[in-house]
Amino acid sequence: MSDATDKSPPQAETAGMQNISELLSYAFALETEAYERYSELADMMDTHHNKQVAELFRKMAHHEKQHGEQIRQWAEEQNLSILTKVKYKWTSPEGPETADPGDMHYLMTPHQALTLALHNEQRAHRFFADIVEQTTDEEAGKLASHLAEEETRHVSWMQEWLDKFPATEDGWDEDDDPPVLQD
Ligand code: ZN
Repeated sequence: MSDATDKSPPQAETAGMQNISELLSYAFALETEAYERYSELADMMDTHHNKQVAELFRKMAHHEKQHGEQIRQWAEEQNLSILTKVKYKWTSPEGPETADPGDMHYLMTPHQALTLALHNEQRAHRFFADIVEQTTDEEAGKLASHLAEEETRHVSWMQEWLDKFPATEDGWDEDDDPPVLQD
């Protein structure tokens, strides 16, 4: 087993990883995080009676879960272990901190939810794209480039969806059964 990676908990934005096992661990953590956050966003949109966006987030959650599963299986087939202590956390577009459930307001509008998702898809893309640029391991580079491409697709889905919703207006967090598609 390897050395340097086992010392301190790796930072989420560690790039330039030099082996495929490490990359798979990060990819798995990233997909798992995305699955969890999309599920939460879907629940939130449900309480918002926004079926449309809830459905979109459920679809994304499902997609990310499957993808994580693929990565896990693939690692298994290659006899590579996934480092479960590797963590990857979504951030909010405004700040550096984690976008955990506590930060997500239950009245979050579709526009806000989609902005959050878009931000994190872009971040995921950058994460893998950085690895492509920095790694010297050919296999890791190939996989990272495949994963980066996948994230590009997610980014454009989110962008497309975001364009369908009006920007959030003042008073979005006042609970008076706010209409969603008003202009
Ligand atoms: Zn994604």
